[in-house]
Amino acid sequence: MGLLKAIRGKDHAQTSDAEPSERHQSSLYPELNELMVRNDRWAKRVASADPGFFPRHYPGQRPEILWIGCSDARVPETTILGSQPGDIFVHRGIANLYSPQDDSLNAAMMIALINFKVKHIIVCGHSNCVGCQTALRASALPPVPETQAIQRYLKPLTALARAMATEDGPPSLDLLVEENVAQQVRNLLHSQVVQDDWKRRGKNGVTVHGWVYQLENGTVRDLVISQGPPGTTPGARIGHKLF
Ligand SMILES: [Zn+2]
Repeated sequence: MGLLKAIRGKDHAQTSDAEPSERHQSSLYPELNELMVRNDRWAKRVASADPGFFPRHYPGQRPEILWIGCSDARVPETTILGSQPGDIFVHRGIANLYSPQDDSLNAAMMIALINFKVKHIIVCGHSNCVGCQTALRASALPPVPETQAIQRYLKPLTALARAMATEDGPPSLDLLVEENVAQQVRNLLHSQVVQDDWKRRGKNGVTVHGWVYQLENGTVRDLVISQGPPGTTPGARIGHKLF
């Protein structure tokens, strides 16, 4: 038996009743111990409240929305939406950006739309976004060659901030956060993946929404820029089934 197989066999042989310290290398990474202990408590709590939860979720997922959010640790979509594991398909990156070349997000969109047939994509920005702050600061300086990943990645957002500047100066951070969400919604509406979805599903195709999460009080604000397939009225499907 190879070493890897032996290790795997050992892992499988351990049951969920094993103490967390027996399931991980807490002696090597003590700073992660607390996380393992919390995970253990969480798994036990969920299984005790709903014994069918894990067996029910194991075979597959059926999320109803795709969330495109910021990597920011303060905006965990499942938590702020009071949702459960399995509810939301997620792609998060700095400042919730989308570009046609982003195949990580393109692939996530394809899975969400083709496999799970989600009807809603939500782009959610948030107040006090560090990605937007960084782009805003860069926009006020003379352009420089983008030699680092973060500079290249934020280039479209920096250009947006620059374009929003008036003779009074750069836009406010709040305004850039909102306009950035609106820009990503536009980018998604023009994306090949969404256009293909509309061709494939017609009026049942996906609707793209723009939201902003307010770190100040934990609430989400709808920017009311939702757009679905051509010929559909935003909101028309809410509350009743048209198709
Ligand atoms: Zn952010």
